[in-house]
Amino acid sequence: MGQVLVASMWDDGLTANIKLVEELDRIGVITSFAISPGLHKNHRTLNDYRDPKYGELVSIQELNVFGHHEIINHSATHIDFTNADSDMTINEIRIGKSMLEDLFQKEIVGFCYPYGCHNQHCHEALKQTNHLFARTTKGWPLSIPRHHCLNKYQLHPTCKWNHPNLLKLIDAAHMICGHVLFWGHTYELVSECDWKQIIDLYLSVKNHPYARLTSVKDIARKQYKLYA
Ligand SMILES: [Zn+2]
Repeated sequence: MGQVLVASMWDDGLTANIKLVEELDRIGVITSFAISPGLHKNHRTLNDYRDPKYGELVSIQELNVFGHHEIINHSATHIDFTNADSDMTINEIRIGKSMLEDLFQKEIVGFCYPYGCHNQHCHEALKQTNHLFARTTKGWPLSIPRHHCLNKYQLHPTCKWNHPNLLKLIDAAHMICGHVLFWGHTYELVSECDWKQIIDLYLSVKNHPYARLTSVKDIARKQYKLYA
């Protein structure tokens, strides 16, 4: 049995991501950030105007702090795709990708559905815009750490960052040549205890005998046998 690939993805370009980047750079590991570039202004703004507990979005200038980690297209303006028509669907996906490619000067091949919602046009739009994979928010059944969708535009994460047995899921994934993909939002890291938990988790994975922290693209390549 080989290595277990482990990746993490943090949704939305939040100010607390800056602290996460500082911590991850200090211990030398990478993560992925799903960003909706059209939402970022010349100054910081509330992520959700209804409640500051959902954090603040970084300014457009601050986005470059994330550039050495994996960047994922989260649609241009974080729309709910549930009722979007075909034109709106492809525009949101295409514009999000091209804005991110301009901002970060690298090819963006991953997508993450805002709110985990998609419609019947999404897969074709993702294909037309050369996305290699798209992540949902649908977690696996907790006791079965096996990837359960063969569609690369339905890449289901394993669990959230605070799953109590996340390290055990690596062992379970090892038995079936699987992987672990965990995700979250940094506004969920509220206390010092939460920050310690996440940094300890990254350190445990980094020092794990058969796990390797990597990009979500690496997981998708292995899972779907993609060679791009
Ligand atoms: Zn989001």
